[in-house]
Amino acid sequence: MSLKEYKEKRKFKKTPEPKGKKEISKKNIYCIQKHSASHLHYDLRLEFNGVLKSWAIPKLPPKQKGLKRLAIETEDHPIEYAFFKGVIPEGNYGAGKVEIYDKGDFELIEKNKDTIVVKINGNKLNGEYCLVKTNYGNKPEKSWLFFRR
Ligand code: MN
Repeated sequence: MSLKEYKEKRKFKKTPEPKGKKEISKKNIYCIQKHSASHLHYDLRLEFNGVLKSWAIPKLPPKQKGLKRLAIETEDHPIEYAFFKGVIPEGNYGAGKVEIYDKGDFELIEKNKDTIVVKINGNKLNGEYCLVKTNYGNKPEKSWLFFRR
């Protein structure tokens, strides 16, 4: 868990995104940001070990059982990022509008190297959700499926 990749991808004088640092909020933060970048997607973030573990979901996150969504693992983000909304200017990494789509906390039910099960307590998403690593696509180590169970 490190913010190295997060910091390498951004020029903090040119983007309003937080530089942030590793910190334990003790709240098990959950959030989803709607990110209108070159391709609209939803960024799912869950707090683990002082950072927000992050996945980009190209379609609307499922509220009901039976829908499996591809979730591409992205770089860890600082805790502070859960409070960020704004516009990342053109020419910067992830340029486009970031809005808070959903927010709350979660309880960890299970976590191993290719499965994470959490009980999400949000406004839009509420219930037990699984993230399972998959071999789908050409970057198998970064692809997960996200679904309600
Ligand atoms: Mn994004």
